[in-house]
Amino acid sequence: MTAVAVVGSTGSVGTQTLDVVRAEPGRYEVVALGAGGANVELLVAQAEEHRPEVVAVADGSAAKEVARRLPWCEVRSGGAGADTALASLCESADVVVNGVVGFAGLPITLATLAGGTRLALANKESLIAAGPLVAQVRGTPGAEILPVDSEHCALHQCLRAGQAREVAALVLTASGGPFRGWSREQLAHVTVEEALSHPTWKMGPKITVDSSTLMNKGLEVIEAHELYGTAYDDIDVVVHPQSVVHSMVTFTDGATIAQLSMPDMRLPISYALAYPERSPVAVGAVDWSRLGHLDFEPPDRAAFPCLDLAYEAGRIGGSAPAWLSAANEVAVEAFLAGGLRWRSLPDVLNECLDRHDGTVLDSVDAVIEIDQRAREQARAVLAEVTTS
Ligand code: MG
Repeated sequence: MTAVAVVGSTGSVGTQTLDVVRAEPGRYEVVALGAGGANVELLVAQAEEHRPEVVAVADGSAAKEVARRLPWCEVRSGGAGADTALASLCESADVVVNGVVGFAGLPITLATLAGGTRLALANKESLIAAGPLVAQVRGTPGAEILPVDSEHCALHQCLRAGQAREVAALVLTASGGPFRGWSREQLAHVTVEEALSHPTWKMGPKITVDSSTLMNKGLEVIEAHELYGTAYDDIDVVVHPQSVVHSMVTFTDGATIAQLSMPDMRLPISYALAYPERSPVAVGAVDWSRLGHLDFEPPDRAAFPCLDLAYEAGRIGGSAPAWLSAANEVAVEAFLAGGLRWRSLPDVLNECLDRHDGTVLDSVDAVIEIDQRAREQARAVLAEVTTS
């Protein structure tokens, strides 16, 4: 049995991880669950079904409630005891699934890798904001990252077809978002509602807006660089509206290997849990009799400048990806609140990146500090834009 710890268990990746576990009785054992504490009912139900040894809850009062409801289980609270709770989650597990959203997921990534355990990583901040920190602990014997993201999981699968020195290019696919093919004139009048209607994936509002600007794809380029060490010049993006080819690797001999499946996050999750084996339970398998055609086109870099802003931040390196990502969150919040036009998002972010003053990211505190400084700068830029 593979011992699995699921952190962020009540979120989208967490619940889908437990679906994968449930689909293969006898293969996986849930040894720990971790959650913020916003959904006590679901967390208690998950614990009663999977009977973990430990449940960690970030929120103190939610932890008390969970402890009262689960007297047979060790319940740990966040706050002052967070480090011990994390360490105990990681030491008894063969694989830790990090489905936490935001910076709260960073200590889990670092503790898992430092503990020499496999990390099934869905937390984007870990690689985008804290790539240099993650790089420090990745070399721990036994530590490895299996990405829980359709594109990076696809790359992981394709990379198995050759040696690292034989890789010519990573090719990330992008759905293109709801505004694929729109003219500059049309893009000038995008509404919040239009930006929130993603054609393929159902996601939260922030990441849906990021898909519409291609910032999401740009940040994924940075993640691919951090995960696989590929130079930015050798990472390409191609728009593929059907989202069936999840990404590709082109090798030095000209061969391209692609990974295809219908959009379903349970496949990257089961791949991360079962690797180097494969699950006998198929999810998202392509029905070739009904697939029809697959389209590919280059991204419109002039209409969607956020893509190249992310490349720029990635090439600067150090704290620049963290800076851009934090500024983007502030700008997207402003857009969602009606305080910024969609078309102005890249202008704001370009100005923010120009004001990046780099620092060495050698601790979680340094990551949090650069994040806060970036947010302050972004608010300042927004104030200038909206008053001018
Ligand atoms: Mg993705």
